[in-house]
Amino acid sequence: MRSKQGSDTIKPLDLTLPVRSCIGCRKRANPSALIRVVLVDGKVIPDLKGGAAGRGAWLHKKCAEGAISRGAFVFAFKTNKAQTEAVDVSELQQYLLTNEWI
Ligand SMILES: [Zn+2]
Repeated sequence: MRSKQGSDTIKPLDLTLPVRSCIGCRKRANPSALIRVVLVDGKVIPDLKGGAAGRGAWLHKKCAEGAISRGAFVFAFKTNKAQTEAVDVSELQQYLLTNEWI
């Protein structure tokens, strides 16, 4: 195992802080290592400021594309089958392309 020091190193889990599960890789992490997204009117929106109303889910930035391609948001937000097609990740995808996350 490498023990490289650096800002890219994944932060160790600090159990004194809240712990969330990434919907991409299912690993647990502290919120500071994750991005919160919320479902608003069928759209998955990055909640960078925190506290946005709506159902929330957490994921690593690096897991976002995988989560999108696997349709993980449908499960994360527990939308029923009839609504599967209604989960719109275009805003999240746009955000991935145009913004720096963490
Ligand atoms: Zn992850």
